[in-house]
Amino acid sequence: MAHNSIMTESQRAARKFSDTDFCKRCGKYSESTLHAIRDCETVMPLWKTLIKQEHWSNFFSLNEKDWIKYNLDNNCSKNHVDDWNSMFGISCWYIWKQRNDWVFNNRHNLANSLIPIIYIHMRNFTAANNSICCDSNFQKHLEFISWKPPEQDWMKINVDGSHRKDDNSICCGGVVRDNIGRWITGFTKRLGHGSEFQAEIWAILLGLRFAHDKGFPKVIIETDSIMALNFVQSNTDIQHPLGGIRARIRELLSMDYNLSLPRWVGS
Ligand SMILES: [Zn+2]
Repeated sequence: MAHNSIMTESQRAARKFSDTDFCKRCGKYSESTLHAIRDCETVMPLWKTLIKQEHWSNFFSLNEKDWIKYNLDNNCSKNHVDDWNSMFGISCWYIWKQRNDWVFNNRHNLANSLIPIIYIHMRNFTAANNSICCDSNFQKHLEFISWKPPEQDWMKINVDGSHRKDDNSICCGGVVRDNIGRWITGFTKRLGHGSEFQAEIWAILLGLRFAHDKGFPKVIIETDSIMALNFVQSNTDIQHPLGGIRARIRELLSMDYNLSLPRWVGS
């Protein structure tokens, strides 16, 4: 990214691969690297959700090199993520991947829908690091030492729901990995408006559906929401507004699909 080597529309136009350098997502500006990863109106709300407001003016005004340096030197995270460097890199990577999906596969999703998947990736990344380097913060980070690969022939889908307080919008996502921890695929979905609990329940249902549609035979769905797991497993409150979704989840769980919490939750 720092070397201007990613194939944005402005790079393609400069190399005469294309007649126009306009961004294919917003259609308003030349698609430079910074536009693609930071400034496009389809992307900016994601950064505003992830970083503290006090960083906005620097974050959105610096040139490419200084912007990267600023993110390596400062922890801009709004949600007390210790390792902003990694989160910044992971976010850029997902934004670029999603941009390509928009341009080449016609999948038109806004960057905000990436939030759950970025957090899942981040938690697992931290877990991997902590299992290698057990420093004095080990205890503090114990909660992150959660990802355990499934047994052979099984896949694991970590799902997560997210809720934005300012406009009550919800979305969810999931990351699919195999028994040696390889990242196979993932999904994200905007869900309209609702509560965090609704987002968590939908995350479970869509994780199961995703597994089913892809034809994965044996799958463990891992949610970090105890409330969601308890709700799915309970038989009370039949009139609950999410009762219908619970029934669909249970139908899918009657196949070779399991639902569980990561090891640390409740243990
Ligand atoms: Zn744009």
